[in-house]
Amino acid sequence: MSGHHAVVVGAGIGGLAAAVGLSRSGWNVTVLEQARELRPVGGGIGLTPNGLHALDAIEAGEAVRAAGIEQEHGGIRNPKGRWISRTDLDFIKTRYGHPVTAVHRAKLIDILVGLLPAGTVRTGARVLAALPGGPDEQAEVRTEDGSFHADLVIAADGIHSRLRETLFPRNSGLVYAGYTSWRFVLPATDVTLAGETWGRGKRFAILPLAGGLVHCSALAVRAPGGHDGGGATELAWHFGAWHSPVPELIHAAAGRTIVHDDIEELAAPLPALHLGRVVLVGDAAHAMTPNLGSACLALEDAVSLTHAVTSRSLFDALAWYSRVRRPRSAALAKLSRRLGSLGKISFPPAAAVRDAGFRVAGLAPALTVRTLDRMMGWRPPPLAPVTDGSAGLRYFQVTGSFCTPRVR
Ligand SMILES: Cc1cc2nc3c(=O)[nH]c(=O)nc-3n(C[C@H](O)[C@H](O)[C@H](O)COP(=O)(O)OP(=O)(O)OC[C@H]3O[C@@H](n4cnc5c(N)ncnc54)[C@H](O)[C@@H]3O)c2cc1C
Repeated sequence: MSGHHAVVVGAGIGGLAAAVGLSRSGWNVTVLEQARELRPVGGGIGLTPNGLHALDAIEAGEAVRAAGIEQEHGGIRNPKGRWISRTDLDFIKTRYGHPVTAVHRAKLIDILVGLLPAGTVRTGARVLAALPGGPDEQAEVRTEDGSFHADLVIAADGIHSRLRETLFPRNSGLVYAGYTSWRFVLPATDVTLAGETWGRGKRFAILPLAGGLVHCSALAVRAPGGHDGGGATELAWHFGAWHSPVPELIHAAAGRTIVHDDIEELAAPLPALHLGRVVLVGDAAHAMTPNLGSACLALEDAVSLTHAVTSRSLFDALAWYSRVRRPRSAALAKLSRRLGSLGKISFPPAAAVRDAGFRVAGLAPALTVRTLDRMMGWRPPPLAPVTDGSAGLRYFQVTGSFCTPRVR
């Protein structure tokens, strides 16, 4: 065991994956989560091959795939239900080694927590600040009930990261992307077809999950705010005249939890993803619009960080992490913004040109094979588990250097 101690702030996908990576590399890890219990918000999630490769690297991939559903087909319809494009997603599996997989967030969180030693996650622990420390001084994390000292602090406190704001006060922070989202999950055994419907300034996505559940997410251009109780009524106003099963799903969602978020992103990337001994992962590091699977980037961050700190001295590791992860996340944030802009188009002739682009390309025009390669072609740095005979535990050991192979 390394004898090092890490404090992770936030028990979301990024924080837990980093905790699993580090704890399996021999670090003592404490995860501080402000919520009283772990109840992941947002229902289902689509994981792309890069995210699944990252999960494999921390030995969580198999369980996640078993809990998920492989997406074999994708496509985009217009509000009348006519397919604008249909895509056989088999090529993703062939090209990138894993299919796109839909999984319930609660399942993913359960799997990650299950890979941690008991007692690692402390709920009801709201972090107020982190002092970055330095070469001769540990970092300090302050909570409402006291403070923790650690060799490494991982700020994984999500899109509205308090730690990001305090560590990088000069960054311009979050801006509204111009559209809002609603998400809900409900039983619907008869809905088995995944896909998106794009209208003018509006989108509705259906993602079947395991266990006869379906995850729905809707996006619409509108002024931010107004989250009070609008839920199903406002959804029906926007999407009630769209093709079946959209209105039926919205009707069935009345009275259920509907998560409503105004979509925000960082106006400008951070100058670095670490300061002193504090390192940012996931949405805290690179809050972006949700058009490209940023949870998968959070998983990549977690694995890259594990690789870095187990193969270099701490400060070299954090510098390497910032150097490698910052440009990648900034480039994907830009691409995600471009895709989001296509969805925002509401002027009819422009929407018609966009839809014609879908027809020709089969995918959103911004998603060329080259951009898909950039997004899904990421491969984890090699971490090989080894067994500590005395404790009977499995740890990771770095077996090579980080690489992002070219995918042909
Ligand atoms: C509409 C929508 C759809 C999306 N769909 C997808 C998708 O299909 N695929 C995909 O890959 N991504 C998707 N995403 C993005 C994905 O949800 C995020 O990128 C991902 O959840 C980020 O994980 P995280 O761990 O960084 O942050 P979070 O999941 O937000 O976790 C942060 C955690 O930190 C805790 N926390 C915050 N502040 C503190 C504090 N001060 N002290 C202690 N704890 C704290 C929070 O309670 C939370 O548990 C979507 C996002 C949206 C908005």
